[in-house]
Amino acid sequence: MSEQNKAENRAEIAVAKFLEHTDAEAASFFDACVHCGECAQACHFYLNTGDPKYTPTYKLKPMERAYERHKAPFSTLKRMLGLTPSEVTEQELLEWEPLVYDSCNMCGRCTLVCPMGIDIAGTIRKMREGYAAADMVPEGLKRSAEFVRKTSSPMGVTIKALKAQIAHQEKDTGIPIEIDKHGADYMAIFSSMEIMGYPEVLGAYAKLFKKAGLSWTISSVAYEATNVGVQIGSAPMAKEILQRVVDAAEALEVKHVISPECGHAYGAIRWAGPNLMGRQFKFEVVHIIEVLDRLRREGRIPAGPKDGRRMTLHDPCQIIRRGGLLKEPRSLLDDSCSDFIEMKGSGITNFCCGGGGGVSANPRAEDLKLAAFNSKAAQLDAIEGLEAVVVPCANCRTVFEDGLDDQEMDLEVIGLSELVAQTLADT
Ligand code: SF4
Ligand code: SF4
Repeated sequence: MSEQNKAENRAEIAVAKFLEHTDAEAASFFDACVHCGECAQACHFYLNTGDPKYTPTYKLKPMERAYERHKAPFSTLKRMLGLTPSEVTEQELLEWEPLVYDSCNMCGRCTLVCPMGIDIAGTIRKMREGYAAADMVPEGLKRSAEFVRKTSSPMGVTIKALKAQIAHQEKDTGIPIEIDKHGADYMAIFSSMEIMGYPEVLGAYAKLFKKAGLSWTISSVAYEATNVGVQIGSAPMAKEILQRVVDAAEALEVKHVISPECGHAYGAIRWAGPNLMGRQFKFEVVHIIEVLDRLRREGRIPAGPKDGRRMTLHDPCQIIRRGGLLKEPRSLLDDSCSDFIEMKGSGITNFCCGGGGGVSANPRAEDLKLAAFNSKAAQLDAIEGLEAVVVPCANCRTVFEDGLDDQEMDLEVIGLSELVAQTLADT
């Protein structure tokens, strides 16, 4: 195939996918925008750079143009009369690629404020399907995808590495963690970031679940929660990754799969999962925060002495705004911390950390990610005497650590499960 043909095909492939994903809902979005600019004022990439190219609606332009040329009402007639926009070219798609992958966390803050109910985050996700199909994906995400193909983990975490981390935690806590326990009530999955960066979470689960008398296990073949397919925008890859977890959970005949402190992994398995697989699962998906909240309310993990430090809570977008778990982490924090204080703008309208939606896995986006973190840093900085921030998402946690370091802010970053385990009653 000549380079010319290859180039044309990449653009054609992407446009064909855009059109495939421009269903009635997406089409109505393009027609409904009243150009009020509210979404720009909601996007931390725009707010922290002031660059108009980071306006949420601008990021959608190639898909909108493809729609106007090929699918909008009377587009065939208009095209004949030369009244439609020109065909989207590969060059334009390449120019937009960093906007689609580097400057959008698919956090949904813009979607929330849009007076016309336009789901910009969801439409970016659909655009990524076109880019992924045309193999126009940032190198960092491609590398993660390669690791997933080889090891099931985007960081290349093997079962041997996981077992080593489990052994350390068993030694630290004195509590055994059973792998591949058939018929357990719960099967926990983790993000690679947790396994390698924050392995204490394994010990926290062990401690909490032992106290609660909860039967749980970890699969040796499906321990990874991260779904690079969702981040890249490849439904086939997202399905393949999910299939491993579904197969393992159903083979072990567990009743529940616990989604970890990872934002996009939760949306991938709980909300997108059954649609991707085309069926309901034989188990229930629950988030670890829900599990802990339920166990606390049932009196199975009673709170002990509280952590006395002044702490606040970050709201991971996919768990809080798009996942609905607003009250549960706060309830757990009220029991675990004597000086919990909300940051200004907390809850469902909170800012993303800047690294969601695959941005933190994309080294090219590093500077932009740190610029976006300015919004979060300002929220933290406004709290007098703040000593720690609870961040119930391992991906956000790494972004916080990078961002705080960049801002020279001295603040401890802690996961919620670990905090609940640390403040568990002894009796
Ligand atoms: S907030 Fe909604 S209507 Fe306003 S410019 Fe953005 S997408 Fe268009
Ligand atoms: S989804 Fe979030 S990051 Fe993406 S355009 Fe909207 S506000 Fe900005």
